[in-house]
Amino acid sequence: MPYPYKKMDEDDFTYIKKITAKERVFTGAGILTEYYHDEMPCYGIYPPELYVEVINKEEISAVMAYAYKMNIPVVCRGAGTGLAGGANCKYGGIMLSVMRMNQIFPVDHKNQTITCEPGALLVDVQAAAAKEGLFYPPDPGEKTASIGGNVITNAGGMKAVRYGLTRDFVRCMEAVMPDGSILNFSSNVVKNTTGYDIKDLVIGSEGTLCVLTQVTLKLLPAPKYTCTLVMPFRSLEECADMVPKVLELPFIPTAIEFLERELINIVEQSLHKFLPVHAGDAVLIVMYDASSQQELNSAVDAAAEAALANGAIDCCIADTPERAASVWSVRGSILEGMKADSIDQEECDVVVPRSRIAQYVKAAKRIALNHGIRVEPCGHCGDGNIHTEMLRGPEMADEEWETATRQCLTELYALSKELGGQLSGEHGIGNGRIEYLETFAGDRMITLYKAIKLAFDDKLILNPGKIIEFNK
Ligand SMILES: Cc1cc2nc3c(=O)[nH]c(=O)nc-3n(C[C@H](O)[C@H](O)[C@H](O)COP(=O)(O)OP(=O)(O)OC[C@H]3O[C@@H](n4cnc5c(N)ncnc54)[C@H](O)[C@@H]3O)c2cc1C
Repeated sequence: MPYPYKKMDEDDFTYIKKITAKERVFTGAGILTEYYHDEMPCYGIYPPELYVEVINKEEISAVMAYAYKMNIPVVCRGAGTGLAGGANCKYGGIMLSVMRMNQIFPVDHKNQTITCEPGALLVDVQAAAAKEGLFYPPDPGEKTASIGGNVITNAGGMKAVRYGLTRDFVRCMEAVMPDGSILNFSSNVVKNTTGYDIKDLVIGSEGTLCVLTQVTLKLLPAPKYTCTLVMPFRSLEECADMVPKVLELPFIPTAIEFLERELINIVEQSLHKFLPVHAGDAVLIVMYDASSQQELNSAVDAAAEAALANGAIDCCIADTPERAASVWSVRGSILEGMKADSIDQEECDVVVPRSRIAQYVKAAKRIALNHGIRVEPCGHCGDGNIHTEMLRGPEMADEEWETATRQCLTELYALSKELGGQLSGEHGIGNGRIEYLETFAGDRMITLYKAIKLAFDDKLILNPGKIIEFNK
């Protein structure tokens, strides 16, 4: 294998400046430390040797061709909001930011699609679709992530229960390969059985296979009516038990999330964002979209009735945009609140079959308690993706925290596997979960992953040491 990589020198810096522009290239102390890591610095802080902001696919192609020739690692960076330790230069080399490539092209009404460059922000893509009366449904919590980052991590988010993941909205894409060649994966067609489905392999590949330079996304007609319900329960377990009951109703919810009171208190106290419901140790938040008021009313009535029949203390209907926004604002601030309330965090992003959610939540709390860790399961319970957040208090020494979280994670992943779940539902593997993936996936699967990586990137220069590690 081609490790170790070439250490970059002045000749390399000069060449990259020549094929891009010197005012967009930074080296040494000129590189901001925020580019050393993503939103989870605990998964690795690594300074790039060179940071470049590219403006088109031709520049990316030239940078990749040079890196390929010289054996220099390259990490593509979007907005850096990832939660897996993916956008960091674990082996040094070049960090290539695509954030200047943020063009959103006019909506194609005949195909009901929108095409954008990778650095366009999710929030801007959603707004561009909405302006044309259309709807881009994927709704991960972080709206300032890049659309390229969303595609390449197959971001999920709140509305996956009804609409699916980012993957379900990608029609086709253009990408630069590690050797600098430019390829298109599929085209703006609804179906395609032409050869292997490389597009679907690239989605979720966490920047280890190619650099995404353009993507075309499917849009839907915008739902006209929407309503959010907040159901307080006496415990998180009761909340979890309610999830399958909501799913059994003859209306597909758009989102189902749960939050424990302790987490709500953290957000209220540290960020001054308030949930309009004060009762209960845990709340279930359920959202419905509909194309008519009558359809919406039927869904809301059925869910409220089911909640009250199954132990909910109340069912608050946030039927104005302001009230709904305040509910979703508390939900969207969980990560920020937890960061404000603890000195360190570790996250487990398992996904379990929806029939096993309550079982997972109960066992996860027991596991965390056994290891003396404060744990807050929350999140996208409607699709079984339970973010099991571990928070470190000031009293925990470094070693104690590291040992406890490692043991806790090992048991949580084993629990997820036993329940028929997966190790990560949406945040991916990156650098942070790599050691656990090996055990979870098993030797034969890791061999397959390695073969796929080598088929794209025979010199292992693109985001090395993420998802799989060859350097052992
Ligand atoms: C508050 C908060 C809430 C979040 N909520 C959700 C959620 O609900 N659901 C969810 O799925 N995620 C969520 N995330 C995680 C994060 O927003 C997503 O993973 C997002 O898709 C990352 O996009 P980014 O532009 O920030 O990518 P980065 O963090 O910059 O990069 C992520 C990975 O993608 C690679 N990459 C980025 N752009 C490209 C490209 N153009 N070509 C090739 N590789 C590329 C990088 O190398 C890296 O491995 C949340 C994060 C935060 C901070």
